[in-house]
Amino acid sequence: MLKQEFPEVERIRHPIVVRTLTVSQVQHLSPNYVRLRLSGADLTGFVSAGFDDHIKMFFSENGQAFDKPVLGEEGLSYPEGAVKPVMRDYTPRYYNAEEGYLEVDFVLHDEGPAGAWAKQANVGDELTFAGPRGSMIIPKQYDWHLLIGDETALPAISRRLAELPHHTIPVVVLELDQPGLEQYLPEHPLAQIHVVSRSEQGQLLAQAVANLILPEGMGYAWAAAESAVTKHVREVLVEQHGLHNKQIKASSYWRASTTVEDE
Ligand SMILES: Cc1cc2nc3c(=O)[nH]c(=O)nc-3n(C[C@H](O)[C@H](O)[C@H](O)COP(=O)(O)OP(=O)(O)OC[C@H]3O[C@@H](n4cnc5c(N)ncnc54)[C@H](O)[C@@H]3O)c2cc1C
Repeated sequence: MLKQEFPEVERIRHPIVVRTLTVSQVQHLSPNYVRLRLSGADLTGFVSAGFDDHIKMFFSENGQAFDKPVLGEEGLSYPEGAVKPVMRDYTPRYYNAEEGYLEVDFVLHDEGPAGAWAKQANVGDELTFAGPRGSMIIPKQYDWHLLIGDETALPAISRRLAELPHHTIPVVVLELDQPGLEQYLPEHPLAQIHVVSRSEQGQLLAQAVANLILPEGMGYAWAAAESAVTKHVREVLVEQHGLHNKQIKASSYWRASTTVEDE
């Protein structure tokens, strides 16, 4: 049998920069989802080359002021005695260099520092973050692109839909707590969009992925959701659809009981 060749994923590194921006617009897209526009002079030089890039945002753990990290030769560090923030990963969903703003979408939930901060965020509030430190450029020259995820993955999926060539077929499978957010996805002439409700261990999502009749040709599957759900989806991609590891990027974006900090 001929060995199949898959287009290579390219990795790009970016210098780490710490930026502090101001919330300039708050748009509630659903009761549990908010889009924040962040603006400020610190955005100068911001680069995000990959649709699933992430930035590390800094939050106070207990409502107290924290010290910002200092950038040295060893990366980010804190002076002795500093009050350290907690870090959470978010996707830069849209960057408008001309008008000088960055948009980030947040799932609103009460339990963690990031979700709680976003829930009460107002115009004028400040947010500090670092990165992206690197980008993975997944080739676009596949015949189809399967994009799977929950609300935390919507920003990356939106970016991908906007950048995919019009001759490729995006197949999107979303697991949403409340239906409706799919209306904010950018249009793509060949996109097939499927939405399922959230379920125990992502059963409905995994079933929907298993039931897909994938388009002809070679494809790539990208998935991001809760950790156990992502694992389940990856199994389906390999076992039911026979995808090779090189055709899959499946990331855990959060854990039902803890935080995911992937770097
Ligand atoms: C590469 C990457 C990119 C990401 N991009 C985005 C993004 O653009 N937008 C976005 O909203 N999230 C995104 N996430 C997910 C986000 O980082 C996590 O949801 C994070 O845990 C939120 O931090 P927190 O402080 O609110 O809660 P944590 O302190 O981490 O967790 C506290 C509690 O909240 C629960 N929890 C955490 N996240 C969720 C959730 N999404 N839904 C329900 N319960 C939750 C946990 O189970 C835990 O019990 C991304 C994650 C990664 C790894």
